[in-house]
Amino acid sequence: MAKIIDGLSIANEFCDGIRTRVDEIKARGVYPRLAVINANGDDPLINIMKVAESVGIEIDMYQFDAQVNSQEIADLISQLNKDSGTHGISLKSHLPKSVRFRELINLIEPDKDVEGLTTLNQGRLFSGEPGIVPCTPLGVLHLIRTIHEEISGLRAVVLGRSSIVGRPLAQLLLNSNCTVTLLHSYSHDLPEICRNADILVSAMGHPRFVTEEFVKEGATVIDVGINKIEEDGKLKIVGDVDFGNVASVAKAITPVPNGVGPMTVAYLMHNTLKLACCY
Ligand code: NDP
Repeated sequence: MAKIIDGLSIANEFCDGIRTRVDEIKARGVYPRLAVINANGDDPLINIMKVAESVGIEIDMYQFDAQVNSQEIADLISQLNKDSGTHGISLKSHLPKSVRFRELINLIEPDKDVEGLTTLNQGRLFSGEPGIVPCTPLGVLHLIRTIHEEISGLRAVVLGRSSIVGRPLAQLLLNSNCTVTLLHSYSHDLPEICRNADILVSAMGHPRFVTEEFVKEGATVIDVGINKIEEDGKLKIVGDVDFGNVASVAKAITPVPNGVGPMTVAYLMHNTLKLACCY
């Protein structure tokens, strides 16, 4: 039976260190502050607010409704860019279709781009230069490192190539000298390719898609997926991985919830702190 990687405990411990650093910079007169722009009524981001409070980071939450247009968000970003008290700006991706997400992301000052999504920060990651890296991939790498002291030379397969998760994660793994394969919806022979992986990460958004057929015995499996399904008349949150069956084959596995999710929030705090420390 696989070791279950307790993302919640690991994130809590990581946040203790962030809290200490936040206290230090507050003593020097710097009060880290994060602006979060959201237009998804289903997702009130309560977790982010709770964790921010626990580490001492101030949050300004800008909640729009589904009728919001790109100009309103662009104006807000412009105002936040000029505000020296705001260190990070997070624009959540689940915006109405009428809103041009990539264009808006690139309006964020790269030195306030807490999610590491501007073209400049993504370019820095891809060219191996220091910059702000997206939170979920950082969290995934952190979890992997709790299992593997050294990942250099290991074979890593990432399912999903979004600019928020799959691509930057593949790049981080490559920068750590893994041999990386990135799979997407046009890829063939998924189970066969995945069975080569020492480290298998799924970020697709397909409930329980990854079965034991995809997993080499002794592999580390990281499940980024968050999927809402209805089962036995109840609404449930499940990952991309068929947890029960895969856990019997893998060496280590993350659960959903309480696997990658808490690490994403923890790294949002980490990136805010980094930006507040005159990054
Ligand atoms: P996207 O929808 O942006 O990307 C999904 C990716 O999966 C795409 O690259 C797509 O390929 C690929 N894909 C879809 N279907 C298949 C398939 N049948 N075979 C192979 N590849 C496939 O999603 P995100 O990256 O934003 O999120 C992925 C999942 O992770 C979601 O469940 C999301 O909720 C979750 N998530 C969780 C976070 C956390 O903190 N735990 C943070 C962020 C996301 P193609 O490019 O060809 O379309």
